[in-house]
Amino acid sequence: MDYTYAPGRNHLFVPGPVNIPEQVLRAMNRNNEDYRSPAVPALTKTLLEDVKKIFKTTSGTPFLFPTTGTGAWESALTNTLSPGDRIVSFIIGQFSLLWVDQQKRLGFNVDVVESEWGRGADLDALASKLAADTAHTIKAVCIVHNETATGVTNNLATVRKILDEYQHPALFLVDGVSSICALDFRMDEWGVDVALTGSQKALSLPTGLGIVCASPKAIEASQTAKSLRVFFDWKDYLKFYKLGTYWPYTPSIQLLYGLKAALDLIFEEGLDNVIARHTRLGTATRLAIEAWGLKNCTQKEEWFSDTVTAVLVPPYIDSSEIVRRGWKRYNLSLGLGLNKVAGKVFRIGHLGHLNDLQLLGCLAGVEMVLKDVGYPVKLGSGVAAASAYLQNNIPMIPSRI
Ligand code: PLP
Repeated sequence: MDYTYAPGRNHLFVPGPVNIPEQVLRAMNRNNEDYRSPAVPALTKTLLEDVKKIFKTTSGTPFLFPTTGTGAWESALTNTLSPGDRIVSFIIGQFSLLWVDQQKRLGFNVDVVESEWGRGADLDALASKLAADTAHTIKAVCIVHNETATGVTNNLATVRKILDEYQHPALFLVDGVSSICALDFRMDEWGVDVALTGSQKALSLPTGLGIVCASPKAIEASQTAKSLRVFFDWKDYLKFYKLGTYWPYTPSIQLLYGLKAALDLIFEEGLDNVIARHTRLGTATRLAIEAWGLKNCTQKEEWFSDTVTAVLVPPYIDSSEIVRRGWKRYNLSLGLGLNKVAGKVFRIGHLGHLNDLQLLGCLAGVEMVLKDVGYPVKLGSGVAAASAYLQNNIPMIPSRI
């Protein structure tokens, strides 16, 4: 039995990995080549300039690691910090929890600030910690911009404001795995020292690139940071940047061509239009959920995520059954609830290469699954609410005006 086969297209609505554009698939469908020829360095040079735009930085230095988001985390931490360094980090869901776990295993002294899952990072607690830290023992503040497990977006401008208010020199490290290229993100303006993302999220590539961007302050910190690092050492990359060959080891060549195609598509649409599209898709999804009489796992509007929505189900329903049925009956892939919210939420990912009509297809599918599992939903109610909003808000396709 071929479990992957089903007629038509799979409706991929997990919050990463996401749909890959045909142009990107075609760009990656090429042979291996000699990465020491002039071609790969020329491509890399362009890519390093281009990725700065998605971070909204002019002063940052990007690195394209053949890794995933988890490797990008490790690169950010080990290049800027030394074992035993005190850092502040927040747990608000499964991915921030995993990052804290990595921080502890790498030997940092982590001040963990926990919030109920469905709430944003407790920034009042951050302010208290920074206020009390007149000796500047806190070396970094680590925060996940968008917690993919609960659909919560943290306010990074406020984090910067708090750091400035106390004139605290801690490094500001940001996981932008499910935000960068989809949500408003401004590395330079918000004084972010290291930002990172993974290729399989809003960039709409296969998994395999961890993109890390370091501010001048982070690069300076890397010169004295004592954490053990080899594969992820920025120093090796910087040496090869200077030489103009760019790579300390074999790059993932096909992914680099894919990245070029993915960035070209994003710039053709316009990064701000891409962000506006995500705002629209997020809003439409939330309107559908409201029409179904269900609740968003995210407790307050200020934290609503425009890349992923975690939907709470009534206690008599196991949300995993919704995900299972969606896939088995409707060829619809939804995200499972993870860890503390397993069985309680299912997630609709609305990020990356995706448009409004695709989303409506997903919402129609969710309605049918909800009915299947015994939830009294009126078929069409969520689709009607979402499409009424979308019909008023979808702009002309930028390239077709
Ligand atoms: N950070 C966030 C916010 C994520 O959503 C994920 C994965 O979904 C990760 C980090 C880990 O990334 P990866 O699975 O690519 O290692």
